[in-house]
Amino acid sequence: MAETNTNSSIILHNAVIVTMDPQSRVFRNGGIFIQHDTIKAIGQSSDILRDFSSLAPQIIDLHAQILLPGFINTHVHTSQQLGRGIADDVDLMTWLHGRIWPYESNMTEEDSYISTLLCGIELIHSGVTCFAEAGGQHVSGMARAVELLGLRACLVQSTMDSGEGLPALWTTRTTDDCIQSQKELYKKHHNTADGRIRVWFGIRQIMNSTDRLLLETRDATRELKTGIHMHVAEIPHENQLVMDTRKVDHGTVTYLEKIGFLQNNLLSAHTVWVNSTEIGFLSSTGVKVSHCPASAMRMLGFAPIREMLDAGICVSLGTDGAPSNNRMSIVDEMYLASLINKGREVHRIGTTDPTALPAETVLRMATINGAKSVLWDNEIGSLEAGKKADLVVVNPSLWPMVPVHDCISSLVYCMRTENVVSVMCNGQWIMKDKKILRVNEEDVILEAGGAASDLLKRAGIIIPSIMNIL
Ligand SMILES: [Zn+2]
Repeated sequence: MAETNTNSSIILHNAVIVTMDPQSRVFRNGGIFIQHDTIKAIGQSSDILRDFSSLAPQIIDLHAQILLPGFINTHVHTSQQLGRGIADDVDLMTWLHGRIWPYESNMTEEDSYISTLLCGIELIHSGVTCFAEAGGQHVSGMARAVELLGLRACLVQSTMDSGEGLPALWTTRTTDDCIQSQKELYKKHHNTADGRIRVWFGIRQIMNSTDRLLLETRDATRELKTGIHMHVAEIPHENQLVMDTRKVDHGTVTYLEKIGFLQNNLLSAHTVWVNSTEIGFLSSTGVKVSHCPASAMRMLGFAPIREMLDAGICVSLGTDGAPSNNRMSIVDEMYLASLINKGREVHRIGTTDPTALPAETVLRMATINGAKSVLWDNEIGSLEAGKKADLVVVNPSLWPMVPVHDCISSLVYCMRTENVVSVMCNGQWIMKDKKILRVNEEDVILEAGGAASDLLKRAGIIIPSIMNIL
């Protein structure tokens, strides 16, 4: 028994360690000692080697590569990965009614499984160890994939009990069905896969939710001590509809505050069309916001991220789904978050502000703020003794990053997915030297291609050719 314990111990040393801990410590030549799934010690390489070498059968020299906490993607539709490219350059209504709803309503659990495997592979390549699912149809399919990939996730069922123009399959769902089915999923999957999977409750968006669904979701998650993931204030039409039908003077956030829905377990995705009063509501109730820069630029608009951060709101980063963004890389989102929010200052102050959302803030959004957003910061989001060993090894000696003058700047402004070489989640390597370890990447890619074309055929989705294809 003792031997098993020792064998699962590992030291990584001679690394630039960016801890993202409360003191923002960065070790120029750091070491970390991991036992099973937990970080036991972190510090200067020489100290770690001196104190723990006798306990660790594996001692790995990282040759001055950068070690970071695993990135956390706080808004991703893993079930939409097979729908990458099905809705490029189309208007919002075609996007939703002509492509996404037919796609999602025709998915089987097996499709969801393959889609999540494919998405998970891309997430791991970009250094993600934990994600918050935005809501799909088959949580059991997602859970199977997450367990296999070795990732950590908060899974959510896409939940709607009302709304116009929904696919026939979905219109029969009652409020009771919505709550009951999520309670069952919670019972079945919460805290499974060595504690890597948690089950949250979902609200797709306010236009597809009755007040009863909102309030019963709030109460059920309080009772079960879990989170709620909801798309909030995405487009001006949403706010207008809320004003017209629910009698408030602004939009979704004002209404959610009025009915007492805002609380600190709410992960509010996008949250683009909010005014300063609503930013105040989000801040005072401890709501977390997932900023998805690429998807916002394509579909929604400029979210007031700087104002939210100034108001003390915990803002993290998400990719959204493949049909809204195409790239499921949190590395790309860090770069975009920084650029878009510097450029957005033109609308506020008449000029861009290169000091807005500096590198340190953006890196925090992708790590420790992500952990707070998924209500898991007691165990992940930074490299500290006692936390889970979720980490990323970045090779800065490749063309995208050379030369490195400041590693924090370089990680946000220069790093590409290509620089991410190895990823560990819960103490287990899930990618080593760019090789995904727990599934066969080539097999998944092959299977996903077939499943995607079958699904599109079943859903009757026809994508017109862009050029004169011969
Ligand atoms: Zn979304």
